[in-house]
Amino acid sequence: MERKCGNKKARVEEPLLLLPNVQVKQEVPDGGEGAVVVADGAPGNGNQAPIHGTFDPTVLHCPVCSDRLRPPVFKCAAGLHKACISCQGKLPGKRCHSCDHGTGGGAYVRCHLMDDVVCSFRVQCAHHQHGCTSYVAYFEAPDHESACPRAPCSCTEPGCGVVASPPNLLGHLVSAHSWPVHGIRYRTDLSLGVRASEPRVLLVTAEEDGGVFLLSLGTFGSAMAVSVVCLRANGGAGQQYGLKLWAHGSGGRAVMLNTDVTSSAAPGNVDVDADDFLTVPPTMMTGPDKEMVLTVCIDEAGAA
Ligand SMILES: [Zn+2]
Ligand SMILES: [Zn+2]
Ligand SMILES: [Zn+2]
Ligand SMILES: [Zn+2]
Repeated sequence: MERKCGNKKARVEEPLLLLPNVQVKQEVPDGGEGAVVVADGAPGNGNQAPIHGTFDPTVLHCPVCSDRLRPPVFKCAAGLHKACISCQGKLPGKRCHSCDHGTGGGAYVRCHLMDDVVCSFRVQCAHHQHGCTSYVAYFEAPDHESACPRAPCSCTEPGCGVVASPPNLLGHLVSAHSWPVHGIRYRTDLSLGVRASEPRVLLVTAEEDGGVFLLSLGTFGSAMAVSVVCLRANGGAGQQYGLKLWAHGSGGRAVMLNTDVTSSAAPGNVDVDADDFLTVPPTMMTGPDKEMVLTVCIDEAGAA
């Protein structure tokens, strides 16, 4: 059902255009916990201290589709009602969704002042408790948070339940669970001796972007499955990675896997149904602990 924006609501919007550096508490429509919203303020007034307060979030949403408003924002010819670019184009004759029947509002036009408002109001990333320090425009927050490198991941050790950002979970896995960790560099081979009794090895590009990867071993019949996943909550966003993985046997024999690196927010065992993995035959293992010699090389395959 469309929400009617009357004259009173329009007057609420206008004074905010004049407030410099406003930091306000947002009241979330679904009744959830409010988010801090920061307004950069009007140009030329940037030196004033932030102001804390409350703010009606409907001002920052399209009253037709309820999506977050982003530039360009449109207003009806009467100047009373706003709409996003999608809705203003869909409305019959581009007439106002609220006042075309009564007051003859006319076609929508750009509202540059509302562009300033929606660009100025910034919210703290929802993952700030996990170390993200970003403030982003309110309309950009969902995109940021879905790609935020601090989005939390889970420890999969039985009974643990720790949830933390990838760099903090890395520290936890090493300190609390003694998972071994090796530094790697992208596009550089790392030789690694692994064994079945130590089925998880963390790989970290500490000198580059701090990417955290987990090499896991699992049984696959009489063979061993070896996989590498990236520890992060949003594998579809941002940097993508490629993997080359070799297992070496005697006499120069080797098996190799060349694939993309998948991501996991809760990495643990090899998932033979979901992950690409290298199958290492028993002839390439030595001793009762199935020791193997691997070479791993991860490269940045390009941004998504
Ligand atoms: Zn809309
Ligand atoms: Zn109107
Ligand atoms: Zn973030
Ligand atoms: Zn844990």
